[in-house]
Amino acid sequence: MAEVKPIKGNAAPAAKAASGAYTPSSVSPNRRARRSYTIRLWSVRHSRALEWFYARFANTFLFLHPLWKKLGYARVERPVTFVERNVKGLLFDCRMCGQCVLSSTGMSCPMNCPKQLRNGPCGGVRANGNCEVEPDMPCVWVQAWAGSRNMVHGEAIMKVQKPVNQSLRETSSWLRVTAEAAEARDTLSKDAKA
Ligand code: SF4
Repeated sequence: MAEVKPIKGNAAPAAKAASGAYTPSSVSPNRRARRSYTIRLWSVRHSRALEWFYARFANTFLFLHPLWKKLGYARVERPVTFVERNVKGLLFDCRMCGQCVLSSTGMSCPMNCPKQLRNGPCGGVRANGNCEVEPDMPCVWVQAWAGSRNMVHGEAIMKVQKPVNQSLRETSSWLRVTAEAAEARDTLSKDAKA
């Protein structure tokens, strides 16, 4: 008889859940890969350095605004989105909501919350700081608070976030923030001249 290999991760509970069989409450039916948590948690631990880096990165993108404008924001959207998805996917387990709030959430992406809460945790955080829906996953909002405590502008976590605009999904936050910053800068300089 062929040897039955033990199934690791979510495969066994997911199959059980799909069959309608009893699944113990301590087992997540949609457990994410633990290595994603590892990198995600690393990003939270290094939130201050990432905040510093992002400020410079955003300035560079703004500096390149004439180039983006010349090429056409619409035309560069696709390649920039590709890079953004992969870089932020690796570092933050980014879900490409298109309206990034990492700078206000201690570098912990709130879209990893199974309830996609953008303004703090639900009431179900476990005593060990993990999620009630995915018991193996550290609550993204517990992490967000920890990350924000390391950041220079960590108080931004108190800012109330708007509901997610679903029409911006899979678009580049980097480009949108750049276009908005360039517009605000141009308006300011026009007002100053008037
Ligand atoms: S907040 Fe949105 S854009 Fe930012 S990392 Fe999370 S899913 Fe990605």
